Amino acid sequence: MTRHDPHSYADLTQGKIAHIDLHIKTDFDTHILKIEAEYRLEEPVSGSLFLDTVGIDLKQAIASGQNLQWEFDEQDELLGERLHLKNLDGVSSFTLAFSTSSVARALQWLPGVQTAGGQHPFLYSQCQAIHARSIFPCQDTPSVRFTFSAEVEVPKALTAVVAAEQIGVEERGESRIFRFKMPQPIPSYLFAIGVGHLAFRELGSRTGVYAEPEIVEAATWEFAENEAKIMEAEKLLGPYLWGRYDLLILPPSFPYGGMENPRLTFLTPTAILGTRGQTCLITHELAHAWTGNLVTNATWEDFWLNEGWTTYAETRITEVLEGKEIADLMAVYDEHRLFEVMERVGMDSPLTCLKVPSEGRDPDATTTIIPYYKGCFLLKECEHVIGRERFDAFIQKYTGKYQFQSLTTEAFIEFLKQELPEVIEKVDVYEWIYEPGLTENRSRPQSTLYDEVQEILTAYKQGTRPTKEQIADWHRYQIFSFLQALPVQIPVEDCKYFEAILELENKNDAGNYMYFYATCIASGYRESLPRIEEFIGKIGRLLYILPIFRAMIASDWARAHARRILEQVQERHHKITVHVINKLLEEAGL
Ligand SMILES: [Zn+2]
Repeated sequence: MTRHDPHSYADLTQGKIAHIDLHIKTDFDTHILKIEAEYRLEEPVSGSLFLDTVGIDLKQAIASGQNLQWEFDEQDELLGERLHLKNLDGVSSFTLAFSTSSVARALQWLPGVQTAGGQHPFLYSQCQAIHARSIFPCQDTPSVRFTFSAEVEVPKALTAVVAAEQIGVEERGESRIFRFKMPQPIPSYLFAIGVGHLAFRELGSRTGVYAEPEIVEAATWEFAENEAKIMEAEKLLGPYLWGRYDLLILPPSFPYGGMENPRLTFLTPTAILGTRGQTCLITHELAHAWTGNLVTNATWEDFWLNEGWTTYAETRITEVLEGKEIADLMAVYDEHRLFEVMERVGMDSPLTCLKVPSEGRDPDATTTIIPYYKGCFLLKECEHVIGRERFDAFIQKYTGKYQFQSLTTEAFIEFLKQELPEVIEKVDVYEWIYEPGLTENRSRPQSTLYDEVQEILTAYKQGTRPTKEQIADWHRYQIFSFLQALPVQIPVEDCKYFEAILELENKNDAGNYMYFYATCIASGYRESLPRIEEFIGKIGRLLYILPIFRAMIASDWARAHARRILEQVQERHHKITVHVINKLLEEAGL
């Protein structure tokens, strides 16, 4: 057999899935989806077809009215179970009937008490990187794209959304049935479903927001500028080819900031600050509509093509919408974070390469921000040596030529060579991509707003605490920069002082706490522990809670609490969150 992707059993020489019709029935009592799926293949297949699954309870497989022979014939803790459809005889379509597991990796079933409204249950999926296989058997590799339709049956009080075009809704007894179609081919990791007590508000002619009624007005205000963002993104990246761009605001357990599900970004509610201060998260998810969703990494080893390009596009759009000063501040802050993470994993670790050999590695547990920022800095360097005008023309050519295709790093380098040979002469692209660390030989970001923070930090390290007035007008990213660059340990009195002058309690910005609580733990500020526990119990966003767990592991006094806190909150959080933190604790011998 030929494996094309270390994270999938798919053998693409056998044939490829071209389309799936999904009939999904949700069962909120058992936490199971009952699904009948009709698959259409690109070409008739004879012999075997391997599909990825995990925890799928297959009841029936039929082609042309005949039962198919099948077997789950290989299994692996990371990859799941290989579904082997056998002795196919020129089969071009088949139907599978199955149920998901009640602990399906992609699905988070929340009881009403864990939602904003407190009454109705909520279901949402997260398929990236390799969890679509826990919802339906598929070639779960980003190098296979298919179109689909979906019919989702839910209890009458609830609304179903799918990252696709909604084409109808009908009531049937105690149920409502929502119909969707996705005419643009997507890789499996971009399949997404959400069910909850949802309201919808228009934001613009192509944009809107789904959220629980309790937070929909706040979300509508926060993201009112989405239409303008699309127009700006189109100038940089080319026409938006997915029709609508809506948001689904999830409960706070969502493990990520956002997930770029096509037409319908899934978003953490921690992005609603009441200040429009974190809409760069939307800029990022929106940019994925081109870099990621339209031009897709062929395997998770090429992840930097998705995230590096998207982070680059995010910085460019932010520069237009928020000004160069803010974009520069964010760039310097991002550079500091990149160094922080590279130093943590080791400057010579293969994880600091852009192309990361990942056979046998769990993409959820090994993903860092490195492909995001190192990838972005590589593309900025390319822009720097060639000039913005020519690089912008290159971007449009890239998104146009490879639209609805999956791309390897090597194919990207070939394209770059062909289109911008001077870049290859001036930038050591191979070193950037295949070597660990970060080259000294590059243009560095500069920011006067960051320099202000640096001055205050230097004075603090010399014994002078900043006054409240000095930092009163700081931008959100200046506060982050300050908290990120504080010494690991500071006096407990200073923890209290900074908490007060930064007015963290009043800011409703969970982003501040990823650094602040880590500092509290390292500094032995024991009184903060109940608040830290409450925070971790509520917020599932890995970016925010991972640094806090890392600080606990590194601290003598808090170490003993880490396992207990995880056990306390694991029912509330998504399986990805629990899995990643559990791995971290296990590695630390906890
Ligand atoms: Zn991203």
